[in-house]
Amino acid sequence: MITDEYINIPIPRQKRIALIAHDNKKDDLLEWVNDNISTLRKHFLCGTGTTARIIAEKTELPVKAYNSGPLGGDQQIGSRIVEGGIDIVIFFWDPLEAQPHDPDVKALLRIAAVYDIPIANNRATADFILSSPLMDCSYDRKIINFNKHMMDRVKNF
Ligand code: PGA
Repeated sequence: MITDEYINIPIPRQKRIALIAHDNKKDDLLEWVNDNISTLRKHFLCGTGTTARIIAEKTELPVKAYNSGPLGGDQQIGSRIVEGGIDIVIFFWDPLEAQPHDPDVKALLRIAAVYDIPIANNRATADFILSSPLMDCSYDRKIINFNKHMMDRVKNF
């Protein structure tokens, strides 16, 4: 549905879920994936390079791997969000250690907010998302109508 100010984009029943964990959080994410394997099996998984490979190897779930985070993987996932190719992000980032790619992390969190993407930054949020009844149905996320926004800016320039 398109209204003047917002566009509704459906998150389908079968969701495309991106998994990312900083090094100190990879064990936590792996444990979370194992604890939720039967639910996650029903959806499509992808992730940053190292995270995706660890999860694929240890769980045998298919996980599409993008580049490693410090080599642009977070930016790739951000661009997939912009293109409408990712519905949910589970991102266990490390709040206690600076990362070389901190600007990319910030960019990913921002673009997820712009596109109204459910994003979990810790285990409790991930548990709440995965146990939501909305995991079993389609859901309309609501994003700003960029075309109108852009045309208004062009007109007023
Ligand atoms: P990695 O990247 O999965 O390649 O370790 C994660 C990140 O640091 O964003």
